[in-house]
Amino acid sequence: MSETTPGAASPTTPGPTAPAAALAARAAELDAADPLADRRKAFVLDDTVYLDGNSLGALPADVPGRLAEVVAREWGELRIRSWTESGWWTAPERVGDRIAPLVGAAPGQVVVGDSTSVNIFKALVAAVRIADGREAGGESPIRDEILVDEATFPTDGYIAASAARMTGRTVRAVPMGELAHRVGPRTAVVLANHVDYRTGELHDLPGITAAAHRAGALAVWDLCHSAGALPVRLDADGVDLAVGCGYKYLNGGPGAPAFLYVRSDHQAAFDSPLPGWNSHAEPFAMAETYTPADGAVRGRVGTPDILSMLALETALEVWDGVDLGQLREKSLALTDFFLACVAELVPAGRVASLTPAERDRRGSQVALRCPGAEQVMGELIRRGVVGDFRRPDVLRFGFTPLYTSFGDALRAASVLAEVLAETPGAGAGATPAGG
Ligand SMILES: *Cc1c(COP(=O)(O)O)cnc(C)c1O
Repeated sequence: MSETTPGAASPTTPGPTAPAAALAARAAELDAADPLADRRKAFVLDDTVYLDGNSLGALPADVPGRLAEVVAREWGELRIRSWTESGWWTAPERVGDRIAPLVGAAPGQVVVGDSTSVNIFKALVAAVRIADGREAGGESPIRDEILVDEATFPTDGYIAASAARMTGRTVRAVPMGELAHRVGPRTAVVLANHVDYRTGELHDLPGITAAAHRAGALAVWDLCHSAGALPVRLDADGVDLAVGCGYKYLNGGPGAPAFLYVRSDHQAAFDSPLPGWNSHAEPFAMAETYTPADGAVRGRVGTPDILSMLALETALEVWDGVDLGQLREKSLALTDFFLACVAELVPAGRVASLTPAERDRRGSQVALRCPGAEQVMGELIRRGVVGDFRRPDVLRFGFTPLYTSFGDALRAASVLAEVLAETPGAGAGATPAGG
């Protein structure tokens, strides 16, 4: 039953109200004081308020020219010579070293290639094998479980289940808040998400990693929603292995290759479940038997996707000179301001935030629960505010600190308020239209 009398929800559309004018003044002030404001020029953007960089980052302006050159000159003219002369062969490690400072890794520990899903597989199986190596001597493994975050992005859970089957383990899914207490003497590996893709909650990476280590287990982190959104300290926090996405906050383009971090002191024991020829110590010896290369190269598989890899490499230039402390401060200020605008402008009770209000538990997105969310997001997109929708009733707004302005945050909240004022109240719109 609707709580709203049909026809009673007619929108009142006065001129800018006092609160709206105050928010506009505040947005202008925050934008004027933003030390990262000029980075927006490094991207191809228009009047659309683009709040979906947590799904597909915007196009960095230097990428089209660089890709045209790679195609025309490196592929078109140099052809196979480019594997050496244009540095194609070493691109996976080179681009990895370019990502390393964004995730707090010293050089030589990050390699780029394959999808996040494939890298989760490599990291998990290799981590279980490292745990086995430590237990050497026993018949069957005592550490017979892989702990995963219950609310994980689906691909992580599916792959963990397969990795567990292959390695004779059992997957145990537990709520993120209990992970640190549930890790124990039977745990081989913990797989966790740094930021929840749905709610935008930031999890306690240092605390959970330390708990895993106290229990003698390894910690594998999925950084898809944190790399490029906030500072990550893999080395300092003692993370064992990690994976992350190239096309979200790193803006590498659709299907950009992902990255894999293997802590240097695990590299010698990293036994890849996909030991392709690119990870061989001497790939061009075309040897009959496999001898793994040393270092990050060991995480490679087959021939890298050079066009996507080099698009990502160029995209990473937008990070030159960016202070990650400033990035984090802007990200939090943006989500604080967006939540304040929503509280001020959106009719009471129409949306509820799933994103923690505490700054130290928030990533760089805001998720709002809203009946009829699919229709509401469709209407927002028609009006030039692009976020996305996650079943059953979640509106997601990603705030990419390098190119999102406070004016964007205000416009998104204003358009949301406008759309909700025009549509039936909570409950009435709970059945989203298909498609
Ligand atoms: C985006 C995302 C992925 C994506 O995996 P692909 O292999 O690139 O499709 C995986 N895990 C998480 C947590 C993600 O947010």
